[in-house]
Amino acid sequence: MSVPLQRTTSKTASFAPPPSTDPLELIIWENIAYLANDKRRAEAFAILKRTIGTRPDQILAAQHSALAAIGKAGILPDVSAEKLLTIAKIAHEEFQSDLGSVLRKPLPQAKKALKRFPSIGDPGAEKILLLTRSYPVMALDSNGLRVLCRVGFAEEQKNYPATYRLVLDAIHGQLPRDYDSLIRAHQLLRQHGQELCKRSKPRCTECPVRDSCNYGRKV
Ligand code: SF4
Repeated sequence: MSVPLQRTTSKTASFAPPPSTDPLELIIWENIAYLANDKRRAEAFAILKRTIGTRPDQILAAQHSALAAIGKAGILPDVSAEKLLTIAKIAHEEFQSDLGSVLRKPLPQAKKALKRFPSIGDPGAEKILLLTRSYPVMALDSNGLRVLCRVGFAEEQKNYPATYRLVLDAIHGQLPRDYDSLIRAHQLLRQHGQELCKRSKPRCTECPVRDSCNYGRKV
């Protein structure tokens, strides 16, 4: 399979990355509003920064109800509030409120430390390490992973982590090594999966990489 990642783009402007490169804020970004779209997530994040703050001590001092009100940008706001409190507690108790030292650890230990936080698995940890420009690793969200499976880099497995590893192994030799290109590839694949290569009813007839896509050629 030799489809350049740059070709998996749609016609519209690329999605912006999260509005922070701070590791703790990126963890908060993932958890602040469950299943919210980027616009609503950004609004919730801005309100948190403006009214409460994103330092662990500021979040731990906040009322649960105030955090849940912010979490209403998504569903299950009480769960989101609980996650923010858990994040602040872990950051405070296990990392002395400074995740900068985590980013300087060797890659396996850095990922293990980031995975201590709610909703952060291997993909989330790799995304944080990429966006903080700590390690030039490729990170894929579920949209990007779906695109690359359909194009033909790997068969989807029953187990999500197994699919993720298979795809990363398959694209490894084609990846750029610089942060800007990796971040752009992450964002564009995510955008492509959200706008064209949707989970149900992908819009293959409009897709610029259809001729190179296993799934698209069959449609
Ligand atoms: S051709 Fe269809 S399945 Fe393939 S990448 Fe494009 S939208 Fe997705």
